[in-house]
Amino acid sequence: MIDLHTHSTASDGTDNPEQLIKKANEKGIKALALTDHDTLGGLAEAEECAKDLSMDFIRGCELSTKSEDGSGNEHKLHILGLWIPKKCEELEVFLAQQRDIRNKRNKLMMSKFQDLGIKIDLEELQKKCGGSIGRPHIAQLLVEEGYVESTQEAFDKYLSDKGKAYVSKKSVSPEEAINVLAKQGAMVFIAHPLLGIDEDKKRNFIAWLEEKLPSWRSLGLCGMEAWHSVQNSEKRNFISQLAKKYSLEISGGSDYHGTIKPKVKLGEAFGEQPIPDSVYIRLKEYRKIKAYTE
Ligand code: AMP
Ligand code: ZN
Ligand code: FE
Ligand code: FE
Repeated sequence: MIDLHTHSTASDGTDNPEQLIKKANEKGIKALALTDHDTLGGLAEAEECAKDLSMDFIRGCELSTKSEDGSGNEHKLHILGLWIPKKCEELEVFLAQQRDIRNKRNKLMMSKFQDLGIKIDLEELQKKCGGSIGRPHIAQLLVEEGYVESTQEAFDKYLSDKGKAYVSKKSVSPEEAINVLAKQGAMVFIAHPLLGIDEDKKRNFIAWLEEKLPSWRSLGLCGMEAWHSVQNSEKRNFISQLAKKYSLEISGGSDYHGTIKPKVKLGEAFGEQPIPDSVYIRLKEYRKIKAYTE
């Protein structure tokens, strides 16, 4: 079993990097990538712990992107960087900018909460968490303070794009995200391509994606995440076929976040299916063929 998409307290996961690696090891996971949103802050601790336990560790991160397709449709995609080299100053600068955008947006959301008469404190939150604060943190805070029963309710009422305290976040384009990661020497994947795509928008989305994939591949895109906790076997097969069609690889990760997403289990894709070692073995082969260095 492997897991190439996980989150820690460095962003919006609830296990710290050491706890995450220990849990993965107890579950028999042989290789794990930590892919926190907009930060590499958890990697050093996780890497050291993985080394002690003789587990393979992959340095990663996840970026959020937005794009307009020319017909007024907005497409949101998450991009994963895997095997990020230790020397990556340009990426660090880019990530610091992304965290700055988050902080500004969080402040705007806090003022909306204030207007709603909801008293939650961002500074308290900042003290408790690592570097990259997102809406799931705010959702958790709303639960703790008794304003809602669950993080889902927090999203439904306040934080989703239809929620009362929602503020949209300025995002980079998929091209910018792919470019910064590829230039730095990381392997680049589209995370959970079909997550949150409603049936009625699916056709339009896929057409857009297929139009973009060849140019993204030349920018340095390596593949797409086929194995994921919210993609059933039909979606997984669809993504795998699409990858094949555009000479892309596939990756696989649970998108584990700890207790804020209690249904998502380490090393498991949709339907409790263990993410197979073969995905990782193939990517390691690909790295050899393409002469990646680290
Ligand atoms: P942020 O990075 O602050 O924009 O938060 C994005 C994260 O919030 C996503 O990765 C999801 O985990 C979570 N999220 C976004 N929309 C929803 C929703 N409608 N319901 C539950 N969780 C959501
Ligand atoms: Zn997250
Ligand atoms: Fe994501
Ligand atoms: Fe994720």
